Amino acid sequence: MKKKLRIESILLLCAILAIAVYALIALFPADKPESPIDTVDTPDTSVIEYGHPDLLANNAGPLWTYIRYPQAGDFADSVILDWVQATYDEAKADLDALLDKDASAQGEVNIQFDSYLIDGRFVGIVEQGMISTTGLAHPADVIKTFNLDIESKTFLENSDILDMSKREEILTLLKEKILLISPDAQDYFDNMATDEWLDYITIGHEGIIVILERGVGLPAYYGSLRINLPYDELGDALLLYGETASAPDTAQEPTSKPAPSSTPESVAPSLPPQDGGIDPLRPMIALTFDDGPSKHTSRILDLLEQYKGHATFFVIGNLIESRPDTIKRAADLGCEVVGHSWDHRDLTKLSSDEMKAEILDTHNAIESITGSSSHMYRPPYGAVNDSLTNASSELGFSIINWSVDTVDWKTKNADAVYTAVMADVNDRAIILCHDLYSTTAEAMEQVIPALVSQGYQLVTVSELLEYSGGAVEAGKVYYNGNK
Ligand code: ZN
Repeated sequence: MKKKLRIESILLLCAILAIAVYALIALFPADKPESPIDTVDTPDTSVIEYGHPDLLANNAGPLWTYIRYPQAGDFADSVILDWVQATYDEAKADLDALLDKDASAQGEVNIQFDSYLIDGRFVGIVEQGMISTTGLAHPADVIKTFNLDIESKTFLENSDILDMSKREEILTLLKEKILLISPDAQDYFDNMATDEWLDYITIGHEGIIVILERGVGLPAYYGSLRINLPYDELGDALLLYGETASAPDTAQEPTSKPAPSSTPESVAPSLPPQDGGIDPLRPMIALTFDDGPSKHTSRILDLLEQYKGHATFFVIGNLIESRPDTIKRAADLGCEVVGHSWDHRDLTKLSSDEMKAEILDTHNAIESITGSSSHMYRPPYGAVNDSLTNASSELGFSIINWSVDTVDWKTKNADAVYTAVMADVNDRAIILCHDLYSTTAEAMEQVIPALVSQGYQLVTVSELLEYSGGAVEAGKVYYNGNK
């Protein structure tokens, strides 16, 4: 009797286990698609054909912020900027509410853009990214599109671009395109409401790009999708060119190319230049510039060339393609170009594989332009934790932070940047600036001659560490030449 009971108990236990295993398999099916179309048509490299990238930054926390947006000196600037500010303010208000309950709360905002210029007249802008706070289980997606007609200086509504009375036809085309990439998507269509499918559209070169938010069109694990609806397949659902004009010439190349680096004036410097060689007995500092390349980088390079100084540029991976000439010129002048991550995410929040991709992809993109690059990088916000130092160590990269912070992203004032540098500069310092701001470039017109006249040698980070003795170690964080 006792034995029978035990057998029954074991059988019951087996049954419970079997149900549990079955439930787990049902929850996490082995054949779950691995986001098969997540990356389709989503550029890895920022496409910037309209405007230059400007940044709303908060590098001081607790809401680390990197919102990149285009400014073109045109009618759309203030509207775009208003949206950026409102998006930041909302995230800030949410975090402030969290901070009232938990003083250790923190957050991150990371939003970037692509801008397409079509036929020199139409502009499509996609702002996309995420807001993450310690109060949220998952980061919240952010998507916003702006569509412009720069000829008439007007914003285009979605209903100016597509004839929304033909909504069903457009959705049929959209579903067709999704199925081409992911045939099993049909299973989901029946259960997905289509209300939000055309909320975010933008004008692209080959067609109208539909941006599907995560969880719209397909289950959330597919991520956010960008689907191209070719102009010639939209038929009379396309309103963009009015009744008379034909669809844009899809073969046309983007008209906006990075401006060639300006030729620096060969004016003799008013102060004695360095002769190129580094004297280890004389003071030296490393000027460093993050978040570029930008249209202001050339102005800083002109000054470095004029004063025969070197600096280190920590560039954003997805911006490299937008200004290869600037990067090449910096390297040719003896400056150091190294990475500041691919997309300026807080690396400490990523998996080890994602950290490594952020570091290596950026490094490789630089190397493809300059031929070589040092095995070092600067993490966004200077944020470091053990898993990041471990990943860096495994890759053989050292981490470069700073000892003097100019806070130029906050003051955006040339005199303030000059004062910040001159107040704190000391032998072997690593000075943090951002070549994204015109005010920083302007400040360098005072800073660089002043440092040279005080006897500082302007060297790269590699040179600073080399002349400060000792091998540079992988996985180690450096703040200045004195370590
Ligand atoms: Zn940065």
